[in-house]
Amino acid sequence: MDLVEYERHVRSEQAARRYLLKRCLNGSKPRCPRCACQRLYRLADQRLRCGGCRYTFHEFTRRFVNRGGLSCRDWLRLLKLFELELTANRMAPELRLSYNTVYKAMTTLRFAILAGALDAPQLLHPSSGIDLGLTDTPEEEAHAAVNRYPVFGIIEKNGWVFIDLLPHVQAENVLHFNLHFSLKLTRMGNIVYTDRFQRYDALMFCGDDRLTFNYVNIRGKSAYVDSLSGSFWAFARTRLRRFNGVTPRRFPLYLKELEFRYNHRGEDLFPLLADRLCALVPDFAQS
Ligand SMILES: [Zn+2]
Repeated sequence: MDLVEYERHVRSEQAARRYLLKRCLNGSKPRCPRCACQRLYRLADQRLRCGGCRYTFHEFTRRFVNRGGLSCRDWLRLLKLFELELTANRMAPELRLSYNTVYKAMTTLRFAILAGALDAPQLLHPSSGIDLGLTDTPEEEAHAAVNRYPVFGIIEKNGWVFIDLLPHVQAENVLHFNLHFSLKLTRMGNIVYTDRFQRYDALMFCGDDRLTFNYVNIRGKSAYVDSLSGSFWAFARTRLRRFNGVTPRRFPLYLKELEFRYNHRGEDLFPLLADRLCALVPDFAQS
């Protein structure tokens, strides 16, 4: 989207709302967000009621855009800055919002990106054992998450990257492969990645102080992904460094964001981000 068009959409709250409503409808007639029925009628207070299941809602109900209390204009301005890869610290003064508000909105957007990925049902299903920190679970409880250090397999083919959650591989297994089968490991901050493993270019996870890194045996040679230029990892590495202090909890969100950015590099990200933001929060992720 060029700047002139962008300015047109953010010139007023009404214009911004119109833009987002259009992305919610995506060219089709409005539907009930609960049962998908199209028999709707408008109540005096402007809300809609479903003629099928009687659910009362407004246009943004059950959508990501409804989370966080931002105005439509603020959302569009945030999308623009997110497209330009600004950090929450730099965004907050630009948007004249508090750091916390911006940080939460960015997390919502990252969550929306993840929820739009092909493997989202697997990632977001409780059986994955991953706690993405999307609810206000205290950090202590989050430590009880079953799969605290999810392991991802990275594979790149014909310029597309796929980042798969490997539900049956634990971080401890990866360290064990290193110790007993000489699988080469490299570390960048809390992020540990391996040399080629089975069909993957690398296995990767994010650890923290609770995991003994002493095992990580850096052998002086670089991992396979470090030897590829112009690849996903070259793209992701510099960006991950910018996310000040990646935690195991945020790592899946960052990885899926980078997968999205890489697979859409060279495209106009703004409308794609708006579509993700306007999507319905999937049932398996309703809190
Ligand atoms: Zn309904």
